[in-house]
Amino acid sequence: MLNFYPGPSKVYPEVRQYLLDAYDEGILEAPHRGEQFVQLSRAVVGLIKRKLNIPQDYYIFFASSATECWEILIQSLTKYKSSHIYNGAFGEKWFQYAQKLRPHSEGIAYGINEAIPVSELPISPDTELICFTQNETSNGTQVTPTTILNLHNRFRDTLIAVDATSSMAGLNLKLIKADIWFASVQKCFGLPPGLAVMACSPRAIFRAKQMAERAHYNSLVFMYEKMLNYQTTHTPNILNIYLMKRVLEERPFIKGIEQHLTDRANDLYTFFEQFSDFQMLIENPDVRSKTVITLQANEKLVEDAKKRALHHNMRLGNGYGNWARNTFRIANFPAIQDEEYEELKRFFLHYYA
Ligand SMILES: *Cc1c(COP(=O)(O)O)cnc(C)c1O
Repeated sequence: MLNFYPGPSKVYPEVRQYLLDAYDEGILEAPHRGEQFVQLSRAVVGLIKRKLNIPQDYYIFFASSATECWEILIQSLTKYKSSHIYNGAFGEKWFQYAQKLRPHSEGIAYGINEAIPVSELPISPDTELICFTQNETSNGTQVTPTTILNLHNRFRDTLIAVDATSSMAGLNLKLIKADIWFASVQKCFGLPPGLAVMACSPRAIFRAKQMAERAHYNSLVFMYEKMLNYQTTHTPNILNIYLMKRVLEERPFIKGIEQHLTDRANDLYTFFEQFSDFQMLIENPDVRSKTVITLQANEKLVEDAKKRALHHNMRLGNGYGNWARNTFRIANFPAIQDEEYEELKRFFLHYYA
């Protein structure tokens, strides 16, 4: 089955052998306070930083999901309010969870065809955390490096947190331009679900210590204290951490991966321009995602394309949220081979040209 679903998405085929190796090496039943686990965890932290181009002084943490990271950050870095800039379902959900914990949190919506209007953002001066989604998986938009730089320059004194769930490990993100970045691994990492990686700047950790919020098992200060010794506050997903080590060891550096994905995204966008029945949901090429391609058509055609693709052993991604019925999505993730996209293109040429 070819899998173009943007999460859970295709896992690297090598994962099959790594699963057996994990069993054989005994790591699956190793105590999470013991030397074997600590060595593994330390190795993975080193690999994440090296392969994903993460600044040496950033702190790496393991969580269970991106959703958990949303909650950790609101709990541990805000007392009163966060500000959420969003144009799609994941950014909005983060805002909604923030509001439940901190009712004064504010949401600022922007259009799917525009860049975040950085100079006009009505962000309250007393906000403690600015949150946005670098790659909005629900509609296939991205926040460009230039916009992130502008945000960073305009809000230098405020912590900025970035949900990079469907781009981290796919794009060469400039982590230095924001304080917190996180992703769950079932997207660009090419791993099974149930693990997330979060990177925090020294300034974010300083703030967490200052706030000293210790009311939860996943309070950021507890996570920080445990991670000083490469441990977690609870028994972590050891299997997935092991798989991540094996996958990252074999992976090229992120710069090369980003170039490959960028070329492939350009190729796919050009390819789909020839079909009059399908339109790009995102008309402005500047804000189109490089890792999630969203195509729009009438509901019947969307249904038909997904069904027909399944019949040919190809899974297209359903639309999401507001765009559930009139769009479908195609993941452009590193674990998917170029040849698989050639097959996808042949399918569309055959049935829809
Ligand atoms: C998939 C996704 C999430 C949710 O990830 P979980 O692992 O289910 O918590 C959050 N944000 C974005 C942008 C996503 O793509």
